Amino acid sequence: MRTPHRFALLGALVGSLALSTGPASAAIGGSGVGDPYYPDDGNSGYRVSHYDVRVGYDPARTRYLDGDTTVTAKATEDLDRFSLDLKGFTVASVDIDGAPAKSFSRSGEHKLDITPGRRLAKGKKFTVRVRYAGKPVGGAWNTMKDGGAYVSGEPHSSRDWYPSNDHPSNKATFQLTATVPDGWTAIGSGLPGKTTTGESADGKATKTFRWREDSPVATYLTAFAVDKFTVHHSKLKDGTPVIHAYSPGTEAASQKWEGLLPDILDFFSSKFGPYPFSSAGGIVVSGGDGDGPGALETQTRPTYDGSMFDMSMTHEDAHQWFGDSVTVADWRNGCLNECFAQYASQLWEEHKGADIDGYFYHDTVEEQKNNPEYWGVKLYDPGKGRELDPALYDKGSLMIHALRRTVGDKAFFATLKQWTHDHRGSNATWPQFEKLAQKVSGKDLTGFFNAWVHSTKIPEKKYLYPGSLAKLTK
Ligand SMILES: [Zn+2]
Repeated sequence: MRTPHRFALLGALVGSLALSTGPASAAIGGSGVGDPYYPDDGNSGYRVSHYDVRVGYDPARTRYLDGDTTVTAKATEDLDRFSLDLKGFTVASVDIDGAPAKSFSRSGEHKLDITPGRRLAKGKKFTVRVRYAGKPVGGAWNTMKDGGAYVSGEPHSSRDWYPSNDHPSNKATFQLTATVPDGWTAIGSGLPGKTTTGESADGKATKTFRWREDSPVATYLTAFAVDKFTVHHSKLKDGTPVIHAYSPGTEAASQKWEGLLPDILDFFSSKFGPYPFSSAGGIVVSGGDGDGPGALETQTRPTYDGSMFDMSMTHEDAHQWFGDSVTVADWRNGCLNECFAQYASQLWEEHKGADIDGYFYHDTVEEQKNNPEYWGVKLYDPGKGRELDPALYDKGSLMIHALRRTVGDKAFFATLKQWTHDHRGSNATWPQFEKLAQKVSGKDLTGFFNAWVHSTKIPEKKYLYPGSLAKLTK
């Protein structure tokens, strides 16, 4: 989709000017990539392949971020103008391929509209460098009591700290260079680069930290945290680097769980296919003031607010397969993230010896069977504002277990492995998952999915207690 109403007037204006001065009509990249719930998120007309984000942050000045971000992109249509998402900040300059943009301006809640010096032809690769600074105003920006800060926000958060094509459908590789006062540490996604020392404009010692994530990452899953972190380095059996960072006061409660991570990733690899990334770990922050979730599956290194423990780790680590590596094409597909991540914690419990048919599945159904609200949200396309509804976690994880009992373990886990393999590093939709589950199992699952995913009522008995679950109703 392109050129929604917000641009219609400007488009007409630019178009009429263009008639008398140059090209026959202006080619304007649209605001929004077509997400039915967030029509203004992301932009059309180009695809980003890489972000090089450079930021400076001083915890003595908590409401100020200095940014210098270069976006590498390719025009997917002729562009006389295009937009990036950036909320707040003062933009000092915009360069296209090293030359100043003809003009740039702000519009809507989070748009930076850019007119390059000359038309970017369809297929052209280009870079946009944006220098900006000021107060982070987005809800994903969290300041901690001691001045530390971190970013955590879903369904969108990158606009709160760097200019981006802020929609999960445009995944890109990511590089972070963060300069902070000496004594502070900046943590990002992926592998660390060289840490160097320097001096700020007012003569204070600084440290610059570098992070690189070479697997494509959705913008809302890029990590950034600054604190007086205690950092632990370890390795998985195959040599994959593991980095855990703890805000002051969080280390004691969390680090006893840190040793679980290799077992969790090993177990999930045996069920979901190979771990999709080249590093792992976690960031435990303390008491942010933003409106982000308590934990978020930031790529390679989930961000936990307060502490991490087995159930939060299994949930966020399962997201590395379901959400991070295989990412929603749009926000109708939240079940691809939360139904699986929530169920993964049950798989872990089962692995530890729990009877999940009983205490998890049967007990929950018994408890909720007379509660219509529990069943009242569709798992696919639940509606705007419900893309992360609790139903996706609760009813969603029951649905995944019922699916497993319907098709049997062999077909179920083969489906999951095929899924993470087919869509690794890419985007997918829930209807694609339904198709794959049918194909791998060889069963007609239309009735099952209609009852569980596309209905707002409790599934009828044959779908509620399929396969070996039937004995629980006796
Ligand atoms: Zn989740």
